[in-house]
Amino acid sequence: MPINPVVEDELDSLTRSLLLPSPGAGVYARTGLFEQVVEGLSSFITRHREPETQILRFPPVMSRSQLEKSGYLHSFPHLLGNVSCLQGNEAEIHALVERKEWMSELSSTELVLSPAACYPLYPMVADSGPVPAKGLMFDVASDCFRRESTHEVGRFQSFRMREFVCVGTPEQVLAFRTRWVFLAQRLAKLLGLPHQIAPASDPFFGRAGRLAAMSQLEQSLKFELLVPFRAEEPPTACMSFNCHRDHFSTVWKLFNENGDQAHTGCVAFGLDRLALGLFKTHGLDLQKWPVVVRENLSF
Ligand code: ATP
Ligand code: ZN
Repeated sequence: MPINPVVEDELDSLTRSLLLPSPGAGVYARTGLFEQVVEGLSSFITRHREPETQILRFPPVMSRSQLEKSGYLHSFPHLLGNVSCLQGNEAEIHALVERKEWMSELSSTELVLSPAACYPLYPMVADSGPVPAKGLMFDVASDCFRRESTHEVGRFQSFRMREFVCVGTPEQVLAFRTRWVFLAQRLAKLLGLPHQIAPASDPFFGRAGRLAAMSQLEQSLKFELLVPFRAEEPPTACMSFNCHRDHFSTVWKLFNENGDQAHTGCVAFGLDRLALGLFKTHGLDLQKWPVVVRENLSF
């Protein structure tokens, strides 16, 4: 008899059959069944994209200096992953890998792992000149990495994020955010997902970070769409609706056509979490999902 057997609940066993663990905690091989739902979700989100939205797909890595300049190291240093490589000629690299402590010979490259899909966008927008009077909208996505300290169901180290981003006047960005808080609830309903919207804050680092989080809450800069995963636990954030005000436009010198500083905002969809929420709600057998949900997800 095992001592202290781990008690597996319905969500654990569901997750175990959809996501195969790798040696890294919070890193999974995704099954075909899981991917079918993620692909259905991606197309569903595309069908609800607003007109005149520019599409960009980013790789899982981005410029380290751009992320530094965005203030990430100040706000979330605990979540950052860096890309390091062995450098040198053939003989030097051979010698390095022979060492027991070869990892300490790694040197940083100019790349980090993207922690959110929208970071690489702002410097690109700034490079393309002033923001036109009607504002700009983007559809971006990337695999993201965060060095999470816990790995409960739905908290991955590597996960996929899709975002719609708005750049324009403060009023345009606020209207975009308000529209999406409303629209997202309609989407959740179309998918049969139980949900609620709640004010939220980002996981800022340290004591100064706690103040930043409080101020973010006070100013209503972030909302989340939460889906219950386990009855006895707080619900899980599956989408977020963020106003950055002039944070990125100050860093990247983003101006509107009239010379005013631009504002930015984004709505983020956590694709892996949304898929898990759908399986948790409707079960593992796609044929038994409500017809409307299956139609909306194209299967
Ligand atoms: P949390 O409060 O759960 O840490 P967050 O506020 O840091 O999330 P955002 O930065 O708003 O999340 O990220 C956008 C979306 O990406 C989240 O709403 C969520 O769906 C998804 N996401 C964030 N972190 C993770 C993670 N570690 N694993 C899976 N999905 C995640
Ligand atoms: Zn964003």
